[in-house]
Amino acid sequence: MKKNIPFVDLYPQYKECKNDIDQAIRNVIARSDFITGPTVENFEQAICDYTGAEACASIGSGTNALTCALKALDIGTGDTVWTVGHTFVSTTEAIVNVDARPEFVDIDKYYHLDLDQIPEFDENCPPAAILFVDLYGQTPDIDKFKKFANKYKIKLIEDAAQSFGAEYKGKKVGSLVDLTCFSFNPVKNLGAMGDAGAVTGPRKLIDKVKMYRDHGRKTKFEYDKVGYNARIDNLQALIVQAKLKKIDGWLEKKRQICRRYTDELHNIVKCPVEAPWGKHSYYVYVIETPKGTRDKLQKFLKEKGISTNIHYKFPTHRTKAFTDGSRLSRTEYICKNILSLPCYHTLTKNNQSYIIESIKEFYEN
Ligand SMILES: *Cc1c(COP(=O)(O)O)cnc(C)c1O
Repeated sequence: MKKNIPFVDLYPQYKECKNDIDQAIRNVIARSDFITGPTVENFEQAICDYTGAEACASIGSGTNALTCALKALDIGTGDTVWTVGHTFVSTTEAIVNVDARPEFVDIDKYYHLDLDQIPEFDENCPPAAILFVDLYGQTPDIDKFKKFANKYKIKLIEDAAQSFGAEYKGKKVGSLVDLTCFSFNPVKNLGAMGDAGAVTGPRKLIDKVKMYRDHGRKTKFEYDKVGYNARIDNLQALIVQAKLKKIDGWLEKKRQICRRYTDELHNIVKCPVEAPWGKHSYYVYVIETPKGTRDKLQKFLKEKGISTNIHYKFPTHRTKAFTDGSRLSRTEYICKNILSLPCYHTLTKNNQSYIIESIKEFYEN
């Protein structure tokens, strides 16, 4: 019997937090207090409590979190930032929007920026920053990045849009490098009901991020920097905060679902590898299909009523806005062969079995 399995399913999250979310929305409307103030400060403290970060600046989106983080670290005109092409476009977009120059680096088996494949560079003039991505929900080997960055005084920015709740060597993502940027886009591990994000890190830098998110203000009418309007809505802050109570349970369920996929499918397709140094948060579960089969598999699954996705179909450096002639062989190869399977915490055992059996059926015929 044909099923209808969506790729994401957000409504059950609301149902699990309904009382808190409904109450929060009523309170915001009753107070008619929609941006800034104690609601936001309270939310930022909750993010600090969860991640262990010293300070947090809530932001209107993950993309703006990246932009404000780069600005707070004084990255701008004339600076080079090493990053990956295998990511969501925001990573590159933020670098270009602060007038810095992205230089693309290929990825390793975990889909992370590969420090063993960095471009040749003048040791007297290293890149200003490395903006690496915790792609699919796990961090790279951060100590390796830190060692390299310390040697050349390079700033480290973590695009943790996909890794809220993940851990590195027993520590939560959020205070591992200079600045960490989160997205609370509805589909992320911890999602708002609209756009939202945050930057975490040491207080001094976070104070700078807070200036940039709010028109570069020092006080109401003193503009010390050219900033942005990149603030979070109180409504979104409270919705994210309500869901925060549930996140550990959700992530644990996701991990179990993802491990079952790996157990069942590792002989047929290439499954994600959990790095020995951390705890994966499985924002998405991405398989690598045998060469030349991805599109056919996706079509086959669609006919079976299973929605899948591709993270991502084109590397940033191969899209019109950012083309720069880079050649990244692994990045370009995997973009053609990856497929993301549904892995939300409310995916039923039956539906997961159906997905697994359908993939087996495809490759056995
Ligand atoms: C989602 C995402 C972003 C952007 O977050 P928004 O909140 O949608 O602006 C940035 N980087 C990565 C890797 C993402 O997955």
